[in-house]
Amino acid sequence: MDDLLIRGGLVIDGRGGRGVEADVALHEGRIVAVEPHLARPARRVIDARGQAVAPGLIDIHTHSDFTLPINPRAESKIRQGVTLEVVGNCGFSAAPALPGTAAMLRQYLASSAPWLSFRDTTFADYAAAFPPTSVNVILQVGHNTLRLMTAGLENRPLTVDELATMVRLLEEALAAGAWGLSSGLFTAPGNFADAAEILALARVLQQHGAAYSTHMRDEADGVFDAVREAIAVAEATGVHVQIAHLKLSGANNWGGAARLLGEIEAARQRGVPVDCDAYPYDTASNPLRNLLPRWVMEGGIPAMLERLEVRDVRTRLRDEIARGGLTNFGRIPSWDVVRVAISPHQPEHVGRTLGDIARARQVDPLDAVADYLVADRGETRILITSMTDADVHTISGAPWVTVGSDGNALAISGVTSQGKPHPRFYGTHARVLGPYVRDLRLLTLEQAVAKMTGTAARALGLVDRGVLRPGAWADVVVFDPARVADCATYDDPHRYATGVSTVLVNGAVVIDGGDHTGALPGRVLRRAA
Ligand SMILES: [Zn+2]
Repeated sequence: MDDLLIRGGLVIDGRGGRGVEADVALHEGRIVAVEPHLARPARRVIDARGQAVAPGLIDIHTHSDFTLPINPRAESKIRQGVTLEVVGNCGFSAAPALPGTAAMLRQYLASSAPWLSFRDTTFADYAAAFPPTSVNVILQVGHNTLRLMTAGLENRPLTVDELATMVRLLEEALAAGAWGLSSGLFTAPGNFADAAEILALARVLQQHGAAYSTHMRDEADGVFDAVREAIAVAEATGVHVQIAHLKLSGANNWGGAARLLGEIEAARQRGVPVDCDAYPYDTASNPLRNLLPRWVMEGGIPAMLERLEVRDVRTRLRDEIARGGLTNFGRIPSWDVVRVAISPHQPEHVGRTLGDIARARQVDPLDAVADYLVADRGETRILITSMTDADVHTISGAPWVTVGSDGNALAISGVTSQGKPHPRFYGTHARVLGPYVRDLRLLTLEQAVAKMTGTAARALGLVDRGVLRPGAWADVVVFDPARVADCATYDDPHRYATGVSTVLVNGAVVIDGGDHTGALPGRVLRRAA
C-alpha cells in the first residue's frame, strides 16, 4: 500500500510541458507513479481537484543559513511551496570559523545575520550540526568568509601561503559536502580579490566537480563587465557558474535587461555552463555600508566607524557619490528611495527613509547616513529601489532564468519576525506563480513552475528532484493557480503567501490544509564525492 495518493490535480511535472489531469502516488519518500485514474490503495488520499500539483519549488539563492538554526520550520518559504533552499550565498557563510575568529565573523555578518550565534567551527562540524529543518538545504562555502579567515579585511592580493590556506579550507568544505563556492565580489573583502584569485579557486572546484555562484563585482554601471567576468570563469574551467540575482541598478543602466540577458544567452549557446537567477522586485536589500565607496571598509568595521566621524572623509564620500553614484547601486533619484529595514541598535527608525531622517534632523543626507551607521555600529540593513519594473519583468519573465529569493526563511512570530525585511523573504515564488502568470502574463503557469523546479534542478546538477516522475524524491506542492499570491509588502512584510494547500518534503507532509504540521523532514543535501 502506498503512503499517499494525490488525486485529480492538474499535474505540472516541472519540465515545461502542458499540465495534465493525473494522480500522483508516493511511497517511502519517493514518487512511485504519475498517471490518470490510478487504482492503487494508499494510506491517505489528498483530493487535489481544481488545484495544480507540481514538484516542490527550489529557492536557488537564499541566506536562510542565517535563520534556519533559529526558525527550522522555514515558514515564509515552505508556505509558498519551497522545498529546497540553496544557502551560503554572496560569499557569506557561517563556516569555517578558525579558532578565535567567531566574534570577528559575527561582527562582519551582523547586518545580514543579526540573531545568529557564531562559534569557531570547521565546515565539516558546521554541516554535521546543521539542524533538521522543514526544507532541504544545499550548503555553499563563502569566498568572503574564506578571505576573512586568511587576510582579514585587508585590501591587497593574497600571498602564496594565504592562497594555499584558502585552497585548503575550500577543499575541506567540499569534502564535507558543500555544493560549491559562492563569491560576493561587490563588497569587502571579496572585492579585494582579482579575477586570477577567483580562477585559482575555480580550478579547485573543477577538480572536485563542484559549482560556483557569484554575486558579481558590480550590478550598476559595471554590470556588463561583471557578467563577462563571471562567464569567463565558466569558459576557462568548465565549472558551472550561477549568476545571482541578475539586475540593472542605477538610472544610467535602466532599460538594458534584454541586452544583458543576451550576453548570458550567447554564452549558453556557445555551450558555456552558466545560469542566472532573479527575484521579482524592483527593490534590493543590502547592508547600508555597502552603498558607500569600498575604501570606507578597509581594515575592518571598527576602522570604518572611526573614519565615518571625520569631516574630510564625509566630504570625500559626498564628492565620490556625486560623481559616480552609489557603489553597487549606481545613481538614485534621492535618499528617499533608501529605507531602513533592520536596525539592531535603532529599531525605532525601521521603515523610515534616509531622506526623511535627514530632513527631520536638518542635516545633509550623507551626514545622516554616516551618523546612522555610527550609531548602529555599521549593522543597518536597508531597502533600495534602484531598478525599473520593465527590467525586472524582462529578467524574471525569461523562462530559462531561475528564481532565487535572496531572502531568509522567517516567521510572523518569534525572533525572526523583527524589523521590516524585504517582502521577497515571504513572497518571491508566489509572486511569480500568481501575479506574474495571471495578471502580467509574463509566463505560462507551466513555464513559471519549470523555472522554479526542473530548470533550477538542472542548474544545480540535481537528477532526482525538481521533476514529478516515478523514482524522484517526493518533494511536492499542491496549490490553487487562481489564488496563489504574495501578500507581503514593504510596509507590512511579515505576511505569508496564500493559495498553497499541501507541501511534501522527502514524502513527509509539512503543509497540510494550509497549516504547518511542525514536521522537519528536510536534510542537508551533500554533493556526491
Ligand atoms: Zn547577493
